[in-house]
Amino acid sequence: TENPPASLVWRQIDLDAIAHNLKTLRALTKAHTAVMAVVKADAYGHGAVRVAKKALESGVTHLGVARLHEALELRNAGINAPILVFGYIPESDVDTLIALEVSPTVFDLETACMLSERAVAKGTHIKIHLKVDTGMGRLGILPDSRRPSSEKKGALAEVLTISALPGLKIEGIYTHFAAADTLDKGYAEYQHQTFMAFIEGLKHLGIEIPLVHSANSAALIDLPEAHFNMVRAGIAMYGLAPSGEVDIRSLDLRPAMEIHSIITSVKKVPKSFKVSYGMTYETEKETVIAAVPIGYADGFSRLFSSRGEMIVRGRKAPIAGRVCMDQTLIDVGEIPGVKPGDEVVILGTQANQRITADEMAETIGTINYEVISSLTARVPKIYS
Ligand code: PLP
Repeated sequence: TENPPASLVWRQIDLDAIAHNLKTLRALTKAHTAVMAVVKADAYGHGAVRVAKKALESGVTHLGVARLHEALELRNAGINAPILVFGYIPESDVDTLIALEVSPTVFDLETACMLSERAVAKGTHIKIHLKVDTGMGRLGILPDSRRPSSEKKGALAEVLTISALPGLKIEGIYTHFAAADTLDKGYAEYQHQTFMAFIEGLKHLGIEIPLVHSANSAALIDLPEAHFNMVRAGIAMYGLAPSGEVDIRSLDLRPAMEIHSIITSVKKVPKSFKVSYGMTYETEKETVIAAVPIGYADGFSRLFSSRGEMIVRGRKAPIAGRVCMDQTLIDVGEIPGVKPGDEVVILGTQANQRITADEMAETIGTINYEVISSLTARVPKIYS
């Protein structure tokens, strides 16, 4: 319509922070190391198309997504850069994959054969990335060293077979760390060694693969030996630490997302006043309860009920009672002058108060990744 309804809650996305973070991360790698921007899950809630474009402007050469429809969204927006799909692609989607010129992840011979046949039938090539399971136990070809004795039938031979299939070009090989974000890098080191041994084994068979990559943000920051010739930057590009055990203080990463809303209602209430579903919050004295239009259907977890805080008028107010589907109540009794229309910061900074994604994650027992990527389509993005 001419006059779209106002947003009551929105994410403020700072694209310059993303460019800055990429520059900062870039400085940790060798000049020849390519950077893949991981823009799956709508760029961790920041908006895949806008982030991908900004990242490509900032020197990123590759994009990574989890699912084919995420690649489709990027292609529809006119993005021609190489895109790798990390996840499974069903046979019914292979023609789309070919049309979009997107690279699939291949982790078994059967899929490779299927892709090969379809590429040949279309008279084209598919550029694939092989995935090796060096310790995550998720997708990936298991190296023989990690197979039970009855199954040691030749992971390298499998790759040799794949490499000979018509219609396929092995453009990359990669693995994913299960624990590059812990202080103890022992397991990451084991995965790194396993990956190196696998690549070495392939070399002996005469297979050299152009792109080799394993580093997520944590390894990008803390495990330079794992940079190879490409790194995959996710969480750090968005300005957040992969975990509390990765020290990012020297890096000047800037969080790229804030969540803002407004006060919609304010009322003075007496002592022993019950607030929200289940009446789990009861005021201890006369106070002021304010309503904020964000709820669990926006991706604001119900686990914040009576636990989290929000910032209004430069001060933190506790969440009062249960988070509802569309609204949350806060107790602003200690903050003078709160009125409808006042801006509320749920994630981010206001005056000299700040609520970080790490703090929010801590409050509800999760990780910052989940806090930023769980927001739903109902929370629009405003870019600056
Ligand atoms: N590579 C793959 C295969 C991933 O699935 C992810 C996200 O989990 C990443 C890289 C980026 O990880 P991070 O956000 O920790 O940098």
